[in-house]
Amino acid sequence: MKIRVLGCSGGISKGRHTTSYLINDTILVDAGSGVGELSIAEMTRIEHIFLTHSHHDHVHAIPLLIDSIFDTLTVPIVIHAIAETIEALKNHVFNWVIWPDFAILPHPDAAVMRFAPFSPEERLHVAGLTIETVPVNHIVPTVAYIIRDAAGSFAFSGDTTTTDQLWNRLNALPSLDVLFIETAFSNREALLCAKARHYCPTTLAEDFAKLQHQQTKVYLTHAKPGEEEDIRQECDQLIPSRQLNYLRDGDLIEVCHAPQPAH
Ligand SMILES: [Zn+2]
Ligand SMILES: [Zn+2]
Repeated sequence: MKIRVLGCSGGISKGRHTTSYLINDTILVDAGSGVGELSIAEMTRIEHIFLTHSHHDHVHAIPLLIDSIFDTLTVPIVIHAIAETIEALKNHVFNWVIWPDFAILPHPDAAVMRFAPFSPEERLHVAGLTIETVPVNHIVPTVAYIIRDAAGSFAFSGDTTTTDQLWNRLNALPSLDVLFIETAFSNREALLCAKARHYCPTTLAEDFAKLQHQQTKVYLTHAKPGEEEDIRQECDQLIPSRQLNYLRDGDLIEVCHAPQPAH
């Protein structure tokens, strides 16, 4: 599995885009402003979009992405998300006020976009990948994703704060090769962070002790612009037992089984 990081910031500025990961050229996980890094030709290859939740930084690009390739879409782009996220998009984005309803355009029987509700128990098989969700703890209903193929396994936390459900589910996997986990704020903003239900370095460190997989390559993501260095210093100090990586826009990550330690 090949992951291209189109955006991984908690905000925007030159060189910073919000969350969107392109998997194997045809699947987006979240559709933040990073989608604008794709060429038209690359956009036309997208078949599925999996959303973690309804917040603007994660759904921002969907209307303009589909608008940009509207004339070339002969099969609908499928928007996979939990029911609450789909309802939010229908009511607040594709409502003929913010944007036209692409789920019925150009014709209700041949639309350019289709919503596919994803229930928590479901396990989807799409383009050679197995995709599952895990509910997490954010201010709106949100899920993490676990995505696997024959070569490896990848999990992305979405936006969350302290949770047992995610870590228990990850520990139940036979192995976990790559984990993207959010840390939106530095400890200086711990109060705001708790209100917005994100991780800060202290709460992440407490939860990180729950992860049993030792071989997992861990990437931190979703830092608020300007707080990256503080977050890095605090996490490196508070989580010394792990080699932490800090995700950057433009990163290319190959997910494959970690080599086992030599005996
Ligand atoms: Zn959010
Ligand atoms: Zn977010």
